[in-house]
Formats: sequence, C-alpha cells, structure tokens
Amino acid sequence: MKAAWDWALPRETVREERELVNFAADLGFDTLIVRRPTDEMVDVGHERGLSVLQILNGRPPSTFTDEHPTCLQEIHPVEEGILAAIADGPDGYHQLAHRWFPPVLGGDFYCFEQEESLRSVEGRIEAALDVADGIAFDGFGFRNHYACFCEACEGRRERLDMPRLEAIEKVGRDQLISTSERLYDHAKSVAPDAVITNHVWPPFRPDPTYGRDLRLDYCTQTIAWFYRPNWSKDRVRDEAERHARLAGEANTFVPFIGMHDEEGVRRSPGQLQIELEIALEYGDGHVTLCTLGAPHASPDHAAVVSDVLSTEAAG
Ligand SMILES: [Zn+2]
Repeated sequence: MKAAWDWALPRETVREERELVNFAADLGFDTLIVRRPTDEMVDVGHERGLSVLQILNGRPPSTFTDEHPTCLQEIHPVEEGILAAIADGPDGYHQLAHRWFPPVLGGDFYCFEQEESLRSVEGRIEAALDVADGIAFDGFGFRNHYACFCEACEGRRERLDMPRLEAIEKVGRDQLISTSERLYDHAKSVAPDAVITNHVWPPFRPDPTYGRDLRLDYCTQTIAWFYRPNWSKDRVRDEAERHARLAGEANTFVPFIGMHDEEGVRRSPGQLQIELEIALEYGDGHVTLCTLGAPHASPDHAAVVSDVLSTEAAG
C-alpha cells in the first residue's frame, strides 16, 4: 500500500474532489485515505487504479455521547487537573515540553469495554463501506494513553485479582487488541475485499509496540512526525527499523510520515526524500504520507514524492 492520507486539499466541489484523487494518482499513490469519500471520488479512483478509504475516528458522534454518556472513557482525577492546567497555559505546551503527543487528550472517546460503543463503530463501518473501498481507523486509543477509569473498566480490573499496575496494562492492551479484531471481522463480513488499515494513535504507554498485534490488513506506525523538533534521519531510521523488526502476523507494517504544509513545520524536499526512502526500505515497499498539503503547494516536494514512488515501483 502506497497511501496518501489527506485532509489538507480543498474538497468544496466535485471538480476539487476529482482533482484530489487525480493528484494522488499522479504522484504514484495507489490508495487515498480521506474523511467521508464520495461516490465520485471512488469512481475516479477506480479509473486511476486507486482505492479510496474512509477515516473512521475513535471519537463518537454527538448523537452517541448524548444517548450513552456512561459509554465514554473516563480519565483519572489527576489527569482532569493536568488537562485544565494545559488549557490555561500557553498554546503548544506539549511541543514546548518536547513531547510528540499531549499528556492527556480532551474531548470524548469511546470506552472499548462497552457493547454500545462497539455497536456504534460497527454501524459507522457499514455506512462507510456503502461508499468507500475500506476503512482507516484513527484515534482508537486512550485519552491518557493507558486506561479508562469508568465503572465497567475498574470492575474488570478488580475481577482479575492481580497487582493494579499489571491489571491496568493487561486490560488496556486486551481492549485495544480485541476491539481491532471485532471491528476487522465486522468490516470483512460486510465487504470481504475491503482494505482495513489504521494509524496507531494515540500511543499506548504500557506497550508502545502493541500495534503489531492489531488485527488489520495494514498497520501504519509513525516514523516521522508532524511537529518540530523534526526527527533526525537517524531517529527516522531507528523508528522504521524497530517497527519492521517487531512486525507480527496480525498485520503488515506500513511506515507513516506526518508532514503539514504550515510555515515552520514543513520539512525540506531533501528531508522528505530521505524519509520516503527509509519508509520504502523498511516498509518493504509500503508507505503512508499524511498530508498532501506540502506536495500540493510545492512542486519540489511533489517531484520528490513522485520520483521516489516511481523509482521504487520500477525497482
Ligand atoms: Zn471504560
């Protein structure tokens, strides 16, 4: 899979939808991952030999949060304090602190222990596969990166009769893995040929490598991140090598490169070229680039992407 994961390009009109799909195909991608693809986009994609997948987020719609307030993740009271302190602080605190992800995520996330949560996601999978060629799960993790503290999750841990920290790790990991298995099976029962992928996000602190055990066709794991400080060539290689070495039977590892087009965070064409080459080397020809903003705005970035992807295809 050579995927472009995009939300940056304009999609106001049918013409812009066609341009987006054609742009991804022209660069050499075979997969386009977007929010709410349309029939038009899927049709153009098929003309160009490109699969169009829908992003499905772990944040429930407001209709669900209104009806099922007890099916949402709960964080520890200490973390409510952290969240409030960060909200009162300067913009971009976690970048200031050189964290590549925030310590606690705001907003609502499904609790994976609840049957209603899983049924809700299954319904959204069915709706997505009415149009799209597949699903890309995003945001299926924990707000605090390790556990949910709702009554149901606390009860499950207490019944395990093991030390609390071990129970927290075990239940969190089991919830992430079993959720991916159930959703994968459901998607394949609806559309056996659907492509099922994800982006491993938010990270799971007790086991940062758990993505290898998620049931998916392709598991995209970050090797280069959106924000400054940029990851050095050595770090990008280390991340790619580690995920490739640990890859398991449950899915195919796909390196994920995150790059925005904003002033100050867009990396140079030379750096992007190095990252793409590392991705294709350790990803055995697979890569996901998120987003298409930089190649769309900069011919030099576009040339690097199409050159690396076409060289790899020829090689
Ligand atoms: Zn819970």
